[in-house]
Amino acid sequence: MESSVEQLALVKHKIGATEREANRPAGVVTLVAVSKIFDAEHIRPVIEAGQRVFGENRVQEAQGKWPALKAEFPEIELHLIGPLQSNKAREAVALFDVIETVDREKIAVELSKETQRQGRAPKLYVQVNTGSEPQKAGIEPRDAVDFVKRCREVHGLAIEGLMCIPPADENPGPHFALLEKLAREANVEKLSMGMSSDYETAIAFGATSVRVGSAIFGTR
Ligand SMILES: *Cc1c(COP(=O)(O)O)cnc(C)c1O
Repeated sequence: MESSVEQLALVKHKIGATEREANRPAGVVTLVAVSKIFDAEHIRPVIEAGQRVFGENRVQEAQGKWPALKAEFPEIELHLIGPLQSNKAREAVALFDVIETVDREKIAVELSKETQRQGRAPKLYVQVNTGSEPQKAGIEPRDAVDFVKRCREVHGLAIEGLMCIPPADENPGPHFALLEKLAREANVEKLSMGMSSDYETAIAFGATSVRVGSAIFGTR
């Protein structure tokens, strides 16, 4: 089996090649290395190889490993990519640099309260449930533009991006295209889309960041 450091180099190489093929500027796509399940000893070599942007999907799991790693490597940028419960907003604002999963009014209210209380403002993305899957988090596509507007105007939140996770059994292209269209309508710059199996497709559709886990760290 390849090491995570070798896999990291391979993924970075493919991102660069895909940027070129898609006629996108070199370096426009940020790699978010998704380290959920893996512990600090697995993550450390990837940090030492130069990776600085990581994603975790659970607040509590991230609290167990990232405060120490962030103290040691202060340039690390940590993204929350899993559902946020309103009773975890305080911890999430304290630990994460980007929260990609804002998807309902109640979360917007809590994030607004906590960013003011803590004087710390993580960057925020709205998660869109592009496939309208009942079991999946995210705002419905038809409500997304309005929700971004309400986050900005009613809750004073600076929404910078949109995020989606296409249905596992569908061609992801149309979902990425929909997210890109909604981002233009909502006047949002960042597009977090694409995982291990489809990040090259996402880059062709305009992703500004891709969330890659198993292709770097191995199967979970
Ligand atoms: C786990 C996860 C990823 C990474 O998935 P891989 O298929 O392992 O690359 C990306 N995005 C979200 C929201 C995840 O939960």
